[in-house]
Amino acid sequence: MKIPLDRNSAQAVYLQIRDRIRRLIESGALQPGDQLPSIRSLAESTRVNKLTVIEAYSVLEADGLVYARPGAGYFVSVPPIACPQSTSHFAPPQEVILSEQQGGSFFNVYMASLSAHQHTGMINLSGGFPEDSGLEDLQRIARRAMNQVGSTLFNYDLPQGQLTLRQQIARMLVQRGLEVTPENLIITNGSKQGLSLALHYYVQPGDWVIVESPTYHGVLDILSSLKARVIGIPMTAEGMNLELLEQYLHTHRPKLIYTISTLHNPTGVTTSQAHRSLLLRLAQRYHCLILEDNAYEGLNFEPVPPPIKALDQQDVVTYIGTFSKTLMPGIRVGYMVVTGEHYQPLVERKLLHDLHVSTVSQAIISEYLASGHYRRHLAHLQSKHQQSRNAMLSALERYFPAEVSWTVPNGGIFLWVQLPSNLSMPAFCQAALSHNVFITDGTYCFPNHQGYNAMRLNFSHKPEVIEQGISILGGLLKDYQS
Ligand code: PMP
Repeated sequence: MKIPLDRNSAQAVYLQIRDRIRRLIESGALQPGDQLPSIRSLAESTRVNKLTVIEAYSVLEADGLVYARPGAGYFVSVPPIACPQSTSHFAPPQEVILSEQQGGSFFNVYMASLSAHQHTGMINLSGGFPEDSGLEDLQRIARRAMNQVGSTLFNYDLPQGQLTLRQQIARMLVQRGLEVTPENLIITNGSKQGLSLALHYYVQPGDWVIVESPTYHGVLDILSSLKARVIGIPMTAEGMNLELLEQYLHTHRPKLIYTISTLHNPTGVTTSQAHRSLLLRLAQRYHCLILEDNAYEGLNFEPVPPPIKALDQQDVVTYIGTFSKTLMPGIRVGYMVVTGEHYQPLVERKLLHDLHVSTVSQAIISEYLASGHYRRHLAHLQSKHQQSRNAMLSALERYFPAEVSWTVPNGGIFLWVQLPSNLSMPAFCQAALSHNVFITDGTYCFPNHQGYNAMRLNFSHKPEVIEQGISILGGLLKDYQS
């Protein structure tokens, strides 16, 4: 790459490099995905200091024109896709679902989604899989983790998890507004284990438990196996309907509220600070515990309020997080934040269950956090997901009938689509499958499958895949109407 520099110019050299590369991108001479010269080679060819090139690349990165892949170099970003609609028309029916007994469907839905994911040529718009986010550097980091920790890596370890990792997670949470110490943390096998440990500890058979309706169906199945009774409080575009919540706190005196306050699964809704404070106040007034699941933490592309746990002075809230959605689900590292008297019994339960999370997995996550790559990786994921979300919103606008509505999430990987009530969901899902698009009936996200017609769409795909999948679904929806 030729970068002519005017050393007598009043413009700083790094800005001249920036402008030249920007022009190459704008003219199309550099295409999205193209790799920029390495810092060393550009410094040599332009006869400038490496720091000057680093400065130029950092400004281009801050402008969103390029992005860094740790260990691989700098690449030209994909141009932003405009967001066609900024407000949601989502206004679903507000019906509370009371379920004294429910059957489980998690196993079947999980297995079907796994098999769709492994099927080449299938567009899986349903599953909770984050898009493969180019973690080339992870192999390098994994090797470094193995070397550094040496032989202690292969021994039994603390049930609550390695201290270094807990210290790093505590620091990360403090930056997100949640003041915790390593002594408040328990490392778990994904957040799913944290949810299961917490629910088995707090809930007894016959207890009433409040969930958002719709909610993460993995929790509905845990509650079903516990023989808990479930109250589904409807979601609005702002979060759980708090008026209805108060009514049912009063009449049913539930033991616990399960909430996904940030980038809710399946709707993508993030609640406001005011909603969080009110939810906590209500829980305290009715002596009800809160289980706050923040599985999509870090995937917001607009600022989000601190978790409900950050407001909790009375140890009412147990908080759950995970690296599944930001790094990789297969590594199975999640964590719980527990304060007060419940911490020790939960650590003991963790020990009873499986002693501790694999030390190898913990060391890899720990090394990733220590290397500083995680923050940069999140910034890259956020901008990539924002592009995909915009691509999906604009495809929905173009291909879906006018009476269909959907949420507009500020991050995460899902949006939620409310479908016409006269649609047969099994027939629609089957028709989509015959066109190689995998979707699942969203009613499995409601207690007892008792909700309105809907589907959860995962937008963490390439824009062209989204375009193809949504155009097929839109065509099918129009066929059903005619
Ligand atoms: N909570 C929510 C809301 C989820 O969506 C998921 C995964 N889909 C989990 C928990 C479990 O994730 P993991 O065990 O991989 O951390």
